[in-house]
Amino acid sequence: RIADGAIHLAKDEGGDCFRLGTAEDSVSARDRLSLEADLREAVEQHAFEVYYQPQVDPVSQELRGVEALLRWRHAERGSVSPVDFIPLLEETGLIVPVGEWVLEQSCQQVQTWIADGYSPIRMAVNLSPRQLMVPGLGRMVRGILERTGLQPELLELELTETTASLTMDAVIEVLHELHAIGITIAIDDFGIGHSWLGRLRQFPIQPLKIDRSFIHGMDQSAGDRAIVEAVVALGHALGLTVVAEGVESERDLDMVRQVGCNLMQGYYYSPAVDAVTMASMMREEAAHRAAA
Ligand code: C2E
Ligand code: MG
Ligand code: MG
Repeated sequence: RIADGAIHLAKDEGGDCFRLGTAEDSVSARDRLSLEADLREAVEQHAFEVYYQPQVDPVSQELRGVEALLRWRHAERGSVSPVDFIPLLEETGLIVPVGEWVLEQSCQQVQTWIADGYSPIRMAVNLSPRQLMVPGLGRMVRGILERTGLQPELLELELTETTASLTMDAVIEVLHELHAIGITIAIDDFGIGHSWLGRLRQFPIQPLKIDRSFIHGMDQSAGDRAIVEAVVALGHALGLTVVAEGVESERDLDMVRQVGCNLMQGYYYSPAVDAVTMASMMREEAAHRAAA
């Protein structure tokens, strides 16, 4: 069973690679069965919710965008972290309908905020590798933009390096197609995935989001700081916006300012919050800016 799980993982990542199965996976194998049943139920009962985490300018602290993050409220398990269930959604293919729901929900949310009088805000939504591989992704995204009426310029799609490393011609084509209608493509968790610097040129990407492990590490490790500096330099040389993920402290913020990241996201400013809380943050921010 462990080996089978590893094979599935390898296949899901596009094959032509190996993945190690561990005993840890097998302990959770039983858990996973019940988790999977619960997930299917959650999909039917719409037990998911989208939270939003602000992205701010590290210097002016102005709000520049939000990232949509999926949350699952489970009766017994409490609030389950997406880290624990996204892989399973991906394995089961449920990520396709759930991901589409997240996208529609998030686009609709921006429109609702705008209708409520808030300034238009850019919305970043995560896409899983699995979603990219489904034919008709472009059509699905355009359909959602049409239904919600969201301006494509306000939508950003986040891919991870691993996703991007799939480099399937069809995927590259869709990304260019989405980019052409005004959507922004971001690379998430930059630095921890497969190395594909050479491929950067092939993608119509705009922001690079530096994985939070490097951001925290900067404080302690000259090596991490060097990596972040190099990524910022690389990003800027390519004309990209560079986003720091996981800014948790004043110290992290200082570092992020020093190395010149354009945007930051993290608990220091705010964790992901529900739409109502997000709206009150936008209200405060707008009032603050008007006063300044
Ligand atoms: P991500 O896209 O890199 O999102 C950032 C994660 O870091 C979020 O975890 C966020 O809550 C967390 N985070 C933000 N600031 C801090 C901080 O200062 N310190 C620490 N320690 N963590 C911070 P979350 O919400 O648990 O999501 C985990 C991952 O699950 C996401 O990583 C993303 O890859 C995936 N995910 C979440 N929502 C979706 C979705 O709707 N679709 C897909 N395909 N993946 C999703
Ligand atoms: Mg993300
Ligand atoms: Mg990330």
